[in-house]
Amino acid sequence: MLGDAEKFKMDNIMEGIGFLRYIYDAVRLVDPVTKKVYEMDESLRECKSSCYEFWNTGQVCKNCVSMRAIKENKTFIKIEYNGEKVYMVTVVPVQVGGRVFVAELLKEASDSNLVEEFLGKGQSEIYEMLERKNMMLVRDELTKIFNRRYINERLPYEIMQASLKGEEMSIIMADIDKFKNVNDTYGHIAGDKVLEAFAGVLEGCIRKELDWVARYGGEEFIVFLKGAGYEKAQEVAERMRKATEGIVVVYEERTIRFTSSFGVCTLNKSLGMEKLIAAADKNLYTAKNTGRNKVISSEYGGGDSD
Ligand code: GH3
Ligand code: MG
Ligand code: MG
Repeated sequence: MLGDAEKFKMDNIMEGIGFLRYIYDAVRLVDPVTKKVYEMDESLRECKSSCYEFWNTGQVCKNCVSMRAIKENKTFIKIEYNGEKVYMVTVVPVQVGGRVFVAELLKEASDSNLVEEFLGKGQSEIYEMLERKNMMLVRDELTKIFNRRYINERLPYEIMQASLKGEEMSIIMADIDKFKNVNDTYGHIAGDKVLEAFAGVLEGCIRKELDWVARYGGEEFIVFLKGAGYEKAQEVAERMRKATEGIVVVYEERTIRFTSSFGVCTLNKSLGMEKLIAAADKNLYTAKNTGRNKVISSEYGGGDSD
């Protein structure tokens, strides 16, 4: 199967891509972290437009299968639409000159059985249907916010963007305090309601177009704050902490109140996603160990050491 990056070397990629152009309507090499597209002639040439611009949605794809292909070293497929035609997109991780890229193979599928449901539909309707489908893959079923997959696929891009633009950015790791007690006292269904309410609080404290919230696992959430420095991020986390204190979840006529703790990390330099999450997690751990219901923040980069 085509998923094995090791199989590919520069030469046979050149050859292979040339051959694939006869089968596919478009073949392009993409770096999904930077979203850059490369043409392959004699050597690699960076194109002006970003990969997602092809789809004419004005935004980065929510369901970035190319990021997934790189992370899992596997081939993935999805359906996309550019406002004119529906395409089946196959993505394959490839190694070119020691770097891992993704070969995106685009096949027009407007008339195929594969996309029957889109036949006769208008432009905005097709966009909406695909947005719904793609969102299902990156949404947490219970809380309806983004899921862990979204973090894995989106956060490296956000870090790269901030670094390229010389902007600050922050993440907040949020965790419900003594959540096990909620389950033990009121039951798991009540616990689920608390999770939903907490996700709602976090979402209510961010700017919808720029920031995002995702469920990291269990009762832990990650908030991404675009362009936010140390003070701004701390202020947002503090707002979240206070808002959590104010909510009351009612379940079977019993009222449940709870608190939450936050580990914040602001980034002033490029850093791997894992290290950034680990730094926020360390702060969260300190918040838990020093009484809970609090925000602990730190900066990564600038004058700070690793
Ligand atoms: P701390 O203040 O240190 O964070 O303590 P905690 O009790 O919140 O943390 P702990 O890790 O001990 O417990 C987390 C609990 O979250 C245990 C697990 O059963 C529960 N949990 C994880 N996912 C879900 C879920 O989807 N629904 C419900 N109801 N509970 C969940
Ligand atoms: Mg907890
Ligand atoms: Mg936890």
